[in-house]
Amino acid sequence: DLLVVGSANADLVIGVERRPGPGETVLGGDLAVHPGGKGANQAVAAARLGARTALLARVGDDDHGRLLLGSLRAAGVDPVGMLVGGAPTGVAVITVDRSGDNSIVVSPGANARLAAADVRAAGGLFGAARVVSTQLEIPVGTVVETVRSLAPGSRFVLNASPPAEVPAEVLAACDPLVVNEHEARALLGDPAGDDPRRWAWPLLALGPRSVVITLGAAGALVADGLSGPPVMVPSPRVEAVDTTGAGDAFTAALAWRLGLGEPLATAAAYAARVGAAAVTRKGAQASYPTEGELPAG
Ligand code: ADP
Repeated sequence: DLLVVGSANADLVIGVERRPGPGETVLGGDLAVHPGGKGANQAVAAARLGARTALLARVGDDDHGRLLLGSLRAAGVDPVGMLVGGAPTGVAVITVDRSGDNSIVVSPGANARLAAADVRAAGGLFGAARVVSTQLEIPVGTVVETVRSLAPGSRFVLNASPPAEVPAEVLAACDPLVVNEHEARALLGDPAGDDPRRWAWPLLALGPRSVVITLGAAGALVADGLSGPPVMVPSPRVEAVDTTGAGDAFTAALAWRLGLGEPLATAAAYAARVGAAAVTRKGAQASYPTEGELPAG
């Protein structure tokens, strides 16, 4: 089973001609409200592929929270880990202009109240989880408690997104640490050169047992410990329509396949097919494929 510990947000999206400057008001198109947040996205992506998945997350007792609970239920995510109340559901207020550039304000809301105590209270979920996957849209203390709650033999996957300081204790538990180019740069501070193939070893030096760097259309670079050279895993060629949530789908698929016992590079090749499928359709959760919708590897 896969346990995702993470965020759940409502994405409030408004199309505009031009994003407003300071003190400015602009009129936009109709509001669209989508279920999102990296934790919920991961859980939905995995469940849609057929993974037995639970999500430990917190939403508010409000319409946005009910939207998220509905979306998770529809995808087949076990709702046992969903906590309700304490603050409004997290939202991301997103304006997208005609050239596709966006400005985003996130109000973490209930995600900021997902506490270490909630992780401790969810102890039973950890016993059943072969893999536990998380991201950085929840308090870092909650991520630390997640690592401390891992059952013997279960594997920990961290998507270090959005970029934030990660305690050494958390880095040491990662198997793998999953980052895109931007997040890799943030963790390395000043990476040597522009070639991500040279970043795998400096990232491993931060402590994780393995590292996966996602590289968009180019696929992913996989470094399974220090024993051998990093391996490039290509992504299937697809017509990209909207890359929102591709990294979440990739990480979820990777974590699930690792839980099934696949080697890291094999799981990453599967995850690249899932990430590629996710960019062929608009939206985050709405774009996630079922097994039958995956492109050939
Ligand atoms: P993020 O969404 O976190 O920025 P990436 O852009 O690296 O992460 O995408 C994650 C994965 O999704 C990639 O490793 C790749 O497998 C797949 N992917 C993303 N963009 C494309 C694309 N244009 N064509 C094919 N696959 C893609």
